[in-house]
Amino acid sequence: MDLNTVAEMRDARRRDTWRPGDAWLGGGTYLFSEPQPHIRRLIDLSRMGWEPLTVTAEGGLEIAATCTIAELSRFPKPARWTAGPLFEQCCRAFLASWKIWSMATVGGNLCNGLPAGPMISLTAALDGVCLLQSQTGALRQLPVADFVIGAGVKALEPGELLRSITLPARALGSRTAFRQASLYGLGRSGALVIGALDPVDAMLTITVTASTVRPIRMRFALPPNAEALREALEYAIEPNEYFDDIHGLPAWRRHMTFRFAEEIRRELTEEGGR
Ligand SMILES: Cc1cc2nc3c(=O)[nH]c(=O)nc-3n(C[C@H](O)[C@H](O)[C@H](O)COP(=O)(O)OP(=O)(O)OC[C@H]3O[C@@H](n4cnc5c(N)ncnc54)[C@H](O)[C@@H]3O)c2cc1C
Repeated sequence: MDLNTVAEMRDARRRDTWRPGDAWLGGGTYLFSEPQPHIRRLIDLSRMGWEPLTVTAEGGLEIAATCTIAELSRFPKPARWTAGPLFEQCCRAFLASWKIWSMATVGGNLCNGLPAGPMISLTAALDGVCLLQSQTGALRQLPVADFVIGAGVKALEPGELLRSITLPARALGSRTAFRQASLYGLGRSGALVIGALDPVDAMLTITVTASTVRPIRMRFALPPNAEALREALEYAIEPNEYFDDIHGLPAWRRHMTFRFAEEIRRELTEEGGR
């Protein structure tokens, strides 16, 4: 849609003072999907020339904020990345047309901060760390799970830019399990739960997204039984943290969260261990 309050577009490569009414433009799939009366100027990131995906010297993966969902899906994942299938599962949880897939960026998905942001699910579950750049050029790092702090609420200062997300090699080597539910076929995720079993110390991490307003992570040094998992979920997620919108009632989201977490517990700690 036309954003008729936007008076100017600027290439982000040209530095300028950040003003009230400025907004970074990633793929624009959210920004151009509804009125944005507070925005006066868009700062376009599309020509930054950042390498979309880089395997780091330590064997991790650096995902540029401007990497599109389509690029992430196409990227060949080395066989040693046991977590490889999780990328496609999360890309497919983005229930959108190929046009959205080809334009939407990983950074835009995180910065939108929707509970159903599948790139938030993926990167939070794989211990992702955001690299953030302030208007002064200062850099800071923040785990993805601490970056999204509520429905649409991010730990971003005015004018701060998400530059990239790095997934460590150890997380890429974890065995993962994925469960996702929508109220209707091709609907937005109402609950998305990911389990990851650490390849070194067998720590189990359960990451809850979509059903909750922010990513919630639980770590178990020893495989929990069903009761311990249930207790941990009850303790970790406050009743008012279950998201409530047209894509699912909180009671249904809670039910699916508990069910999926238990399925994942069995898949990663019982069935897989036999
Ligand atoms: C049909 C359809 C289906 C969709 N389905 C889903 C879905 O299932 N789940 C979901 O989460 N979303 C969905 N969306 C919303 C949107 O497409 C996604 O959230 C998408 O990932 C946003 O990425 P983008 O690059 O297009 O972001 P933009 O629209 O360009 O930006 C989104 C927000 O992030 C900010 N931003 C972008 N990049 C940066 C950066 N590097 N640093 C700081 N701020 C930045 C922008 O200023 C803006 O506030 C859907 C949209 C449509 C139209």
